[in-house]
Amino acid sequence: MTDYSLPPQPQSGLSLPLQPALLPSPLQAVSHPLLNAHDVQLWCKRDDLIHPAISGNKWRKLKYHLRYAEEQGKRHLLSFGGAYSNHIHALAAAGCQSGLRTTGIIRGEPEAVSNATLSAAKGWGMDLIFVDRQSYRRRQDPAWLAQFKDEETLIVPEGGSSPLAIPGVAELVDEVPFSPDLWVLPCASGGTLAGLIAGKRDPEQILAIAVLKGGSFIADEVRRLHPAAADRPGWRIALDHHDGGYAKFTPALWQWVQAFSAETGLPLEPIYSGKAMWGLFRELAAGRIPRGSKIVFIHTGGMQGLAGLREQGRL
Ligand SMILES: *Cc1c(COP(=O)(O)O)cnc(C)c1O
Repeated sequence: MTDYSLPPQPQSGLSLPLQPALLPSPLQAVSHPLLNAHDVQLWCKRDDLIHPAISGNKWRKLKYHLRYAEEQGKRHLLSFGGAYSNHIHALAAAGCQSGLRTTGIIRGEPEAVSNATLSAAKGWGMDLIFVDRQSYRRRQDPAWLAQFKDEETLIVPEGGSSPLAIPGVAELVDEVPFSPDLWVLPCASGGTLAGLIAGKRDPEQILAIAVLKGGSFIADEVRRLHPAAADRPGWRIALDHHDGGYAKFTPALWQWVQAFSAETGLPLEPIYSGKAMWGLFRELAAGRIPRGSKIVFIHTGGMQGLAGLREQGRL
């Protein structure tokens, strides 16, 4: 398999083909009665606004993958995802902007999964290859992958989570001009969390809200992606706010998210950012957030996913 475990070696003079990007992303103060009641201050780091197509944590995770591809002369990016994947959407757009060929291996049948996300990816020139669940499980098997790649191919793992994702995410810390007591973010594969652990200043704490069921593997994954995380205290993953599992949510959660957005003016979706905000407020209501905390919540993006949820009649 392509060796993407090499540490990135940023060099000056290389182009960064992910423009225009709104960086540093805005930091928005959030007010809500429950925050006042707990004497907590909350800001939202609006990474959802970084780029219209390469949103949020996907922009940050892809940045050094693209540098690495350029340095290594890789002209083809190959990755994987579900039919509504924010990562596939972002990778296709990034490849198009940087003149790289992209291939997306998509779990599912083409007729079952034609949708706005995949149409956009196709429009940006991505080759879509549909595979059944059984084959999809072989996505880390070099023998299976050989049929899709050549010497110009850089394999980007699902969700963009590889060690190359770490420095790009870590950079967001220095965009925040004060030191919060607590960072809060959604997590799935753990790449974004690993990057934040790498970047955070020492006394700062991190609460990651797992958006999937059975997330006890995530901590190991974080340590695999960023081994130094094992020795850095101050992060925990809350496993009980998944609301049914990955990409699942109850009507109650979606109602809460809509009411929250109306109250605060902050747009959220129910799979990642909305679920994580809901998780934070449940932690707050349960008394698990110290009074007086200054919190920065990372809006990891993914607003393109709302179109797919509407298409499926789920909102
Ligand atoms: C992919 C994604 C995540 C999950 O990030 P991980 O690094 O896989 O934990 C969170 N939020 C959004 C919007 C995403 O698209």
